Formats: sequence, structure tokens, C-alpha cells
Amino acid sequence: MILAGMSLEELEILMSELGATKFRAKQIHNWVYTKSVSTIDEMTNLSKDFREQLKEIASVTETKIKVKQTSKDGTLKYLVEYPDGECVETVLMRFDNRANLTACVSSQVGCAVNCSFCATGKSGFKRNLNYKEIIEQVLTIQRDTGLKVTNIVFMGQGEPLLNLDNVLKALEIFNNDFQIGARRITISTSGIIPGINRLADMDLQSTLAISLHAPTHKLRAEIMPIENKYPLDELKKALLNYVEKTGRRITIEYILIHNFNDTFEVAKELAHWLKDLKCNINLIPYNSVIENDYKKPSSNDIMKFKYLLEHSGKKVTVRLERGADIDAACGQLRGKTTK
Ligand code: SAH
Ligand code: SF4
Repeated sequence: MILAGMSLEELEILMSELGATKFRAKQIHNWVYTKSVSTIDEMTNLSKDFREQLKEIASVTETKIKVKQTSKDGTLKYLVEYPDGECVETVLMRFDNRANLTACVSSQVGCAVNCSFCATGKSGFKRNLNYKEIIEQVLTIQRDTGLKVTNIVFMGQGEPLLNLDNVLKALEIFNNDFQIGARRITISTSGIIPGINRLADMDLQSTLAISLHAPTHKLRAEIMPIENKYPLDELKKALLNYVEKTGRRITIEYILIHNFNDTFEVAKELAHWLKDLKCNINLIPYNSVIENDYKKPSSNDIMKFKYLLEHSGKKVTVRLERGADIDAACGQLRGKTTK
């Protein structure tokens, strides 16, 4: 049995089966989620005999670090390996404010959505991660660094809204067991409308981020095949409904690709598309990850695009490049090691 992923209640049941007190469950819970140990032997406030008894039926984890890369800017990237040999990427970003440690987690092995600019999409879909495999990514970071993760973004590999049951269960564990508040968690989606509708009907405090990337059907369909299944006008209706039901502000993610979706005309169309939507905009300079003809715009063009959008009254940020020297973009590391 694996202790990581077990709730306090589940641990209490296990303790009563072993004839131990409820308090032991609390101690073990603390070792797993707060002190983030890798082995039962490290749980030093349990007696040696009890640790031996526990070790006969349980271990903390079966998840391993296959590759780790450290960037000059402090970003850490892990290729995490599960017992069946499948791997996903997890990234820890440290922002200037040291109190903010953001983990970027994966929700699936590979991704079926197949966006043209994304290394994960290129590798195809392997399988969903279960909720324990999702939370193991954050535990892996905590075990390796000895630090507590404070924020989580579902922006690693995979489409979280195509594995929503496991993502929601992981969210519950992040809240209850890691004590990471829902407000500190962001779920990013390529625009899976049934999933957005499901989230709209829940009272979730987390942020929903939409990978929009283009404001017209024609342009978007060129880079995101999902546009043919869930087109922009239906996506818009789903987002308006989401905002109306939850009262929450959406984050719009927009990759900037030189001479494709970064022109003056497209900025105007984007501002128009977003006009009636309660949202912030996050511009992401395209990160060159695979061989194709896409290029990121110059900083000057990025700033111009930003000003044009700001003019429409929205809050616009440009995503800082993180870990540029270590393949920290979506799908790159797994792509390299599985080749
Ligand atoms: N599948 C979800 C979440 C994972 S991708 C989604 O698509 O939203 C997280 C973010 O990384 C998305 O906004 C995605 O569009 C972006 N991304 C993927 N490849 C990228 C690249 N080469 N350069 C910049 N951003 C990229
Ligand atoms: Fe999947 Fe997101 Fe990559 Fe598109 S960008 S292929 S949805 S992981």
C-alpha cells in the first residue's frame, strides 16, 4: 500500500487496523504531506518496532525522479517516473518573491488535443494520470527540495478537462492534505466545453485559464484542431456562462507567434472577441520547442501587442520566460528522453 495520496481518515482506518492510535495517523500524515519524506524509516517519531510493522504492508511512494534539470533562474524541471515506466514533466518555478513556489503539473501522459505548436501534442496521447499520480508530482518536488509548494498550475502535459474527475480529486487533496488553497490553483484548458460547463456548476475558488491563442475560427483551427470540435463562438457562450455562474474572472492565455497571430489586425479582433468577457490576458511568447516555422515575436512587437490590448481596458501581462536553458516548456524533456 502507498501512503502518498491517502487522506487523514484513510490513515486513521489503517491505524485502527494495525491497533495503533489515531494520533499515529496524524503523525504519518504530517510526514507524508508537510515534511515530505520518501521512506517510512525517516518517520522518526514513530517507534522502530512500529515502523517495521508499517513497512511490511506499506511504503511512502513508488514514484521516482528519472531526470532533473536546474536552470540558472532557479527553475527546476523533473521527469517523474511512475511504476509502469510512464513519465511526465513537473516544473517548479521560484518567483522573485520567495514565498511563491509554483509547481506546474501534468494531468495526462501525452495529450490527444494535438496543438501544432506543442511538443506534448506531437507525442500523442498515452493515458490519463490518476489523482495519486498527479499529487505525487508535487510531493516529488517537496521531497527533493525540502520546500513546500505554495501554488499549482495545471499547465504541464495533458488536457486537464479531459481527465477532470482525477484533477478534481487531486484538487481536493491539495486543499485538504497539502493545505494549498483553491485560490492558489489554476486549471488551464484548450477549451473543452463540457468540462468548462461542469466547472461552472461547481463552487470552485480556483482560476480557470483558457488557451485561446487566436480570435478567429480560421486562425485558431490552423494551430488547434480542437477548434473544429469546440469552435470559438460556442466557447464564448460557455465562458460567459462560467463567469455569470461563478462570478470569477477568467485568465486568457495567448501564445504570440511572429507574423501569425501578433499583428495589429489580430490584436483588434482579439480585443473585440474579449470585450464582454470578465478576464485578464496573459501573453506567452512562443517557445521554440519543436521543428516548425513558428518564431516568437521581437520584444518590441510583444510590447506593441500588449499596448493595443491594454487600450481595450483589460489587464495584460507577459509571461516571463522560465527555465529557457533547460527545456522547461511543455513536453520538451519527455520528448527528448523518449526519442
Ligand atoms: N492542455 C492545457 C494545459 C497544458 S498546456 C492547455 O493547453 O491549456 C499549458 C500552456 O502551455 C497552454 O497555454 C499551451 O498553449 C502552452 N504551450 C504549449 N506549447 C507551447 C510553446 N511551444 N510555447 C509557448 N507556450 C506553449
Ligand atoms: Fe494538449 Fe495543451 Fe499541448 Fe494543446 S497545448 S497539445 S491541449 S497539452
